[in-house]
Amino acid sequence: MQKNNPVPDDSALHVMDGIASSHDGLASTPRKRFVKKERHIAIDELTEKIRGRSRLHLAKGITLLESTTLSDKEAGQKLLLNLLPDTGNSIRVGITGVPGAGKSTFIEEFGLMLCEAGHKVAVLAIDPSSSLTGGSILGDKTRMEELARHPNAFIRPSPTAGTLGGVHKKSRETMLLCEAAGYDVILIETVGVGQSETVVRGMVDFFMLLVLTGAGDELQGMKKGIMELADGIVVHKADGDNLRLAKKTVREYRQLLHFLQPASPGWTTTSQPVSSLAKTGLDDVWKTVLTFKEAMEGSGHWEGRRQSQTKDWFRSMINDRLIDTFFAEPGKKEEVRKLENELLTGHITVTGAVDLLFKE
Ligand code: GDP
Repeated sequence: MQKNNPVPDDSALHVMDGIASSHDGLASTPRKRFVKKERHIAIDELTEKIRGRSRLHLAKGITLLESTTLSDKEAGQKLLLNLLPDTGNSIRVGITGVPGAGKSTFIEEFGLMLCEAGHKVAVLAIDPSSSLTGGSILGDKTRMEELARHPNAFIRPSPTAGTLGGVHKKSRETMLLCEAAGYDVILIETVGVGQSETVVRGMVDFFMLLVLTGAGDELQGMKKGIMELADGIVVHKADGDNLRLAKKTVREYRQLLHFLQPASPGWTTTSQPVSSLAKTGLDDVWKTVLTFKEAMEGSGHWEGRRQSQTKDWFRSMINDRLIDTFFAEPGKKEEVRKLENELLTGHITVTGAVDLLFKE
């Protein structure tokens, strides 16, 4: 991709020097009471530092992309544009499952195994609860402490503000920045609530569903739609007394998967037992991911999916922008509310109300 810098090279930005750390000063969340010491860092310098794999600068770059001030936004987009040629060289894996399925334990052990094997692993999260309420299902506990300390790992907490669409944008841009910083495995965690699984499916190459044993009940209750998003099903906590049941569950999923639409063309969704506590089956999951990559690259679907994901992202951002622009017009919200009342009293039809809104 050609490099194109619309903003002058000597442009500078304000980077808040208030990056707090969950471990060694490198993963970042805005510190509650930080000193607002602003520094000028040239975007080109930041670009080079991120290319040079500095985690501190990666965190600063992400903070910039998450910022809502106009000057930061422009600087963030320039940074991203500078780094675009360095993106795309990772395997992007989405991981979902109900609370308690063992997602964070799995990501910690799986991530550590990969880091020990020389991979650089970035962990991101999309937390639908935080976008709706500001609270967090994923982020409240102390999570993945050992992985967070590993020099090959980078863990970024979920952005806590905005709509799911906004969180989606931030996570996608964060993912690209992580790739530019040399992370070759990106793990994106989400919890099975609302639309978040579809959002994550739309960002990753391989989508993994963590389930527990007792498939009989679980299969009944599980939304077929979620299973049809998955490239791999991990029957988790396959250890101790649970091992036998886990193996049975794996077989049941395999039978069931025959009847479902595969998530990726030419690929049969896998089902395998894993214990993160006993550290068994983790390497098999990685082998599955690699086999999947090889198969998808062979058929052209790997790149094809990424391209259509980028187009979908573009379209969804257009939609978001249109809605924002529409409601930002003075008096628009009041007008909508007024028409809503008229609808309820039967003075107008829905189509008539929409026509009125757009007539002007
Ligand atoms: P999350 O809510 O999906 O992130 O789940 P956690 O990773 O917090 O795990 C929930 C509970 O399951 C914790 O008590 C873990 O210790 C336990 N757990 C996680 N992985 C395993 C495993 O492989 N085997 C067993 N037996 N328990 C596990």
